[in-house]
Amino acid sequence: MAGMFGQIGELVLPRRCAGCGHPGELLCTRCRTALAAPPRRVFPKSTPHTPVFALAPYADPHRAVVLAMKERNHLAVRSHMGAVLAAALDYLEARGEIPAGAVLVPAPTRPRSARARGGDPVEQVCRASGRRVAPVLALDPAAADQAGLDEAARRANLAGRVRIAGVPRGEVVVVDDVVTTGATLQASVSALLAHGANPVACLALCVA
Ligand SMILES: [Zn+2]
Repeated sequence: MAGMFGQIGELVLPRRCAGCGHPGELLCTRCRTALAAPPRRVFPKSTPHTPVFALAPYADPHRAVVLAMKERNHLAVRSHMGAVLAAALDYLEARGEIPAGAVLVPAPTRPRSARARGGDPVEQVCRASGRRVAPVLALDPAAADQAGLDEAARRANLAGRVRIAGVPRGEVVVVDDVVTTGATLQASVSALLAHGANPVACLALCVA
């Protein structure tokens, strides 16, 4: 299904690289190479009780690709980013930074914003990675949009507002598109720990 929609999107839209806008392929060779850079440890202001890794700074091509992921017609980009995510997990596993085969838990989004985008892009990228995915986290609808809030305000906004729909078995890696202050990841890891889950790391596509 996802593949079919991707093809329809490409028929309707002129093809441009989702990373740099260059006409031609969905992702040009240069952007594919940049996206293949290995993740590294980052240290957001709100630090969860797990290490946090990110693929790259929030700059192009990663920034453009994260924005493209949110567009309905860019399911093909989500699928490519699934492969990028899988490679990042392989890399961290090979270095012993995370245990092999951890289940991926997408960071929570506000229900309304996920619906508006036609499904949570982070969850779809996780699914496209071929790993086990447990979308058990959701934000309370009372949580305000995080944009424009500083670190303290974000933490206050999220306190007690991450809901958990089930406890995944085994080790968990929380996945998000962009880590800014770390407040969402911290609240997610806290909610998982409070319910007896075993979060071992967080992995974001970009660090702002
Ligand atoms: Zn490009």
